[in-house]
Amino acid sequence: MISYTEQMNYFGNTNPDALAEKYGTPLYVYNENILRRQMKRVAGVLPNHRFTANFSIKTNSNLTILKMALEEGLNADAMSPGEIYVLKKAGFPSDRIFYVPNNVSEEEMQYAIDEGVMTSLDSLSQIEMYGRLCPGGRISVRLNPGVGAGHHEKVVTAGKKTKFGVAAQDIAKIQEVAKKYDLHIVGLNQHIGSLFMDYKNYLEAVHNFLHYAEDFDELEFLDFGGGYGTPYHKLEGEAEFDIESFKTELDALLTEWKEKSGKDVLFKMEPGRYVVAEGGVILGRVHAVKENYGHKYVGTDVGMNVLIRPAMYDSWHDVEIYRDGKPVLDGETGEYTVVGNICESGDIIAKDREIVAPKEKDIVVVLDAGAYGFSMCSNYNNRLRPAEVLIKSNGEDVLIRSRDTFEDLVRHFDV
Ligand SMILES: *Cc1c(COP(=O)(O)O)cnc(C)c1O
Repeated sequence: MISYTEQMNYFGNTNPDALAEKYGTPLYVYNENILRRQMKRVAGVLPNHRFTANFSIKTNSNLTILKMALEEGLNADAMSPGEIYVLKKAGFPSDRIFYVPNNVSEEEMQYAIDEGVMTSLDSLSQIEMYGRLCPGGRISVRLNPGVGAGHHEKVVTAGKKTKFGVAAQDIAKIQEVAKKYDLHIVGLNQHIGSLFMDYKNYLEAVHNFLHYAEDFDELEFLDFGGGYGTPYHKLEGEAEFDIESFKTELDALLTEWKEKSGKDVLFKMEPGRYVVAEGGVILGRVHAVKENYGHKYVGTDVGMNVLIRPAMYDSWHDVEIYRDGKPVLDGETGEYTVVGNICESGDIIAKDREIVAPKEKDIVVVLDAGAYGFSMCSNYNNRLRPAEVLIKSNGEDVLIRSRDTFEDLVRHFDV
């Protein structure tokens, strides 16, 4: 057995037991070196073109991490007024924010207009709404090219059966509505889905998208969406997303299109998971080990309120066991299911894993939890959302978000 966190020196000058002692569990722990490495990778996807990578902050909106993204030259995608607000707090200027909402109210649309943030419109009715609120404005339109991709039905975000975008066959109608309100369509965007390791479908979607783009005269940018995958089975040796080959093929496709179409636009992408997934883990404490009718369980404090992905998408997260500050790699193994402390039978973090027999007080480390981890946490069962800690490049640990308190649970009641 190998330990990814040990190989990466993930915990710097400290270790999981010391962190658990100092900050309590469950605990999100991020690694600055890994986060910055990924940010640099996405910032450099198209070095030969005018390009910006927009970090999709629904994956992780910790202010410290957002500031890091700003420093690494990333722009940001916001899905809601709250995300615009948080980005502003992190220091992002309006022209580095792209608002990609769907089904928003007039107030939520007006918020972006007042903030001077470029907005993507997701339906003919939302284009109408924008036109009424801001005639003569500059907009982007989200196209649904009719094909999607992703690791689970719930994360495929284009195609004939999803709610997103305006169907490509409605391009004439888009232009009609825009004309009615004198709107300038300066951008087109798409996002076909999440977590692909094979980029073939993505390139095909880009290819189709470029074709549609030729029907628009005022384009200043084209945004191809996010979705680059993360190797969640890394303990079994799953390879990383091959970003170098992806870059080469995408570059060739775009160079050819620019020559053919004579258009010189800014290209954008919207990676989320790829930027932050691997730079985050969760530490949990083992509080019980038991066997029910032949099934072995490791009972921890990492409930589904701390990490919903396994329950929601059947997602796989690798787990490691630490004891006395070191990974437990030798000893008798068994097949264990790692569960949390929530009153739901679906409260499972990792099912049927061959691991060295854990003991009470051990630390379980859940890997690749930096994306759609904390950002999807809840207070279900009136559990407290965890604290977040950063292992800085110099190896020191620092608290970057406090744990909820009992007072937080009643803050919105008149008691
Ligand atoms: C979620 C989302 C992204 C990011 O997707 P990842 O799979 O995390 O890269 C990008 N764009 C839009 C519009 C999204 O909704």
